[in-house]
Amino acid sequence: KNDIIEIEHELAKITSLPSQTLDNIEIFLYGNLEMPVEMDIIKTHGAQGIGLFRSEFLFLEKGLPDEAVQYMQYKKVVEYFSPHPVTIRTLDYGGDKLSYFMKNYRELNPFLGCRSIRFSLKHTDIFRTQLRAILRSSAHGKVKIMYPMISTLDELLTAKEITYDVMHELDSQGIKYDKNVEMGIMIEVPSAVITADILAEHSDFFSIGTNDLVQYLLAVDRVNENVADLYNPLNIAVLRYLKTIASVSTATGTPVSICGEIAGDPKYTMLLLGLGYRELSMSTKNMYQVKRIIRSVTVEECEDFSRSLLSMKKTDEIEQTVDAMMKQKFPDIII
Ligand code: PEP
Ligand code: MG
Repeated sequence: KNDIIEIEHELAKITSLPSQTLDNIEIFLYGNLEMPVEMDIIKTHGAQGIGLFRSEFLFLEKGLPDEAVQYMQYKKVVEYFSPHPVTIRTLDYGGDKLSYFMKNYRELNPFLGCRSIRFSLKHTDIFRTQLRAILRSSAHGKVKIMYPMISTLDELLTAKEITYDVMHELDSQGIKYDKNVEMGIMIEVPSAVITADILAEHSDFFSIGTNDLVQYLLAVDRVNENVADLYNPLNIAVLRYLKTIASVSTATGTPVSICGEIAGDPKYTMLLLGLGYRELSMSTKNMYQVKRIIRSVTVEECEDFSRSLLSMKKTDEIEQTVDAMMKQKFPDIII
C-alpha cells in the first residue's frame, strides 16, 4: 500500500511538467466530465480543459431539466475552466444510458435504435432547450458543442440548422452567446469513419468515441458479458479505422481528439501517439500514468511501434506485442 501511495506521489509531481514527448511534441490532455463534482480533481490532474462533458447526469432525475437548471450547471463548469475549452456533448440518451428515462419506451435493439442524436432530432423541444442553455453558457468562457453518434451527413446538417435557429432566437431576444462557437461531431459509427471527409466539411472538430465505435465496428455489444472477449480495441479493424480517421483529419485540417476509454488507458498511449493523435480526453484515473508515458517516449518510436502493430493480423499477436512493450518500458504500470 505504501508503494502505491509513493507511486501516486511521484506521479502527482508530473502535473506541473509539460505534456510533451522526448522530441518535444506537445500532447494535449483533457478531462472527461460526468458530474460537475469532478471539476476539481480534473484540474488538479493538470487537464487543459474538458474534452467530453457528458450532459446525461442532468437528465437522471425524474423530470426533464429546464433551461435555467442546465444553464447554471454548464456555466459553472465553463467558468471554472476558462480560458480552457469545455466540450459539451448534447444529450446521448439511449443504449447504455438512461434507459429508465422514458421508462415505457422499449426497443428490441436499443443500441441500433432511437438513441443519442437521433433522439434529440426527434424531440426537438428537448434538444432546443439544451442548445439554448449550452449557447448561453458560451458567453462565460470557451465552449464547444459536440453532437454524439452522428451517422449521416443529414443528421449533422439538421443538428446544425437547429443550432443556428436557436442562435437566431437568442439574437432576437438580445441574449449573449459566443457567435463563433465551434460545432463538432463524435465519430462512433462506422458510417462516420467511411464518410469522415464529407463530414469534415461541416465539422469544426472530430472526437472519436471508441467505446461505441468498437462495438459498432465489431458488432459486439459493449455491455454484454457473453461477448466481452470479442470486444477488443486492439482488433486490427479498429487500428485501421483509427489510422483512417487520423489521415482524414490531417488531409482536411480537422482537429481530432479521442475521448473513448482507450485515450486514458496507458496501454494504448504509444499506439495512439504513433497513429498521429495529439489530443486525448480521459477520466483522471490514469492521467498521470498516460502523461508519464508521453514524457518518456519519442513520436518516432511510437510511429515505428504503431506501424509494426498495423502489419499484424491476429488480435492475440497485437495484444501480446503491446503487453511486452509495456512490460519492457514501463514495468511498474499495471495494465
Ligand atoms: C464513446 O462511445 O467512446 C464515448 C466517449 O461516449 P460514451 O462512452 O459516453 O458512449
Ligand atoms: Mg459513445
